[in-house]
Amino acid sequence: MSSYVGRFAPSPTGPLHFGSLIAALASYLDAKHHDGLWLLRIEDLDPPRELESAPKQIMSQLHACGLHWDQDVLFQHSRLDAYQSYLDTLSTVTYPCICPRSPSAYAGTCRMRTFSQTKTPYAIRLKTHKKPIEIADLFLGKQTFDNDLGDFIIKRKDGLFAYQLAVIIDDVYQKINHVIRGVDLLESTPRQIIIAQQLNLPEPTYGHIRLAVNPSGQKLSKQSHALEIDTSSPLVLLRQALIALGQDTQNRAISVTQLLTSAVRSWDRSLLPQTPFIFTGN
Ligand code: GLU
Repeated sequence: MSSYVGRFAPSPTGPLHFGSLIAALASYLDAKHHDGLWLLRIEDLDPPRELESAPKQIMSQLHACGLHWDQDVLFQHSRLDAYQSYLDTLSTVTYPCICPRSPSAYAGTCRMRTFSQTKTPYAIRLKTHKKPIEIADLFLGKQTFDNDLGDFIIKRKDGLFAYQLAVIIDDVYQKINHVIRGVDLLESTPRQIIIAQQLNLPEPTYGHIRLAVNPSGQKLSKQSHALEIDTSSPLVLLRQALIALGQDTQNRAISVTQLLTSAVRSWDRSLLPQTPFIFTGN
């Protein structure tokens, strides 16, 4: 066994659709090709957006596709105390913010506010710096984020911890050293790195894959009405996902296990497509 530890970390806002399946499969194949562990984390941090049935559905969809994870599933709702204690250690680089959520980089209006003088409810923002953040993306090559990201929220006004904070704390907690996920999260990566640097935590290696889009060019998502994957023919589904990942599908596997074994063996990062895969399934 190598020291590679990867993961799939879905938010339980609904069952898996084809876009989430290819992210799951890419992270699985990259981990198993490198003889690593592949963990599952359910990112249930935002109850208003979640479906109670989704964690169970996601797990049974993954099992139906032969994507069995190592170790116990980690649920983020069980980690709230850990997020709070890390947040407490960031008190010198955070401040309370009462501004409405801004879609663009935050201008820093509340930067001078102090916790003792601000009435709740407020969000908590992390002060960012203007130093460029560089990542050596496994698939996209060197990525430099040199513009000011703006101070960003790590705990929301409604009291919920933000994805950016929880995700890096848990990647480190689970000893994840390879994060393979969709390119839609690329812009989040420098923020997670800034938090890791502030907390003196190790930074994982990142690889962002091109996503599947529908014929109108929209990312497959709940918002674009992507349908849940049909796991009644997992071989067909997995072959389609392998095509989306640019991988070899010319094998004669007659079972999911055979197909995955061969896909793990032949997984080739250099074959990952440079453009989004157009999914015509729904
Ligand atoms: N939970 C996030 C989502 O489902 C993904 C987190 C990640 O892979 O870093 O979009």
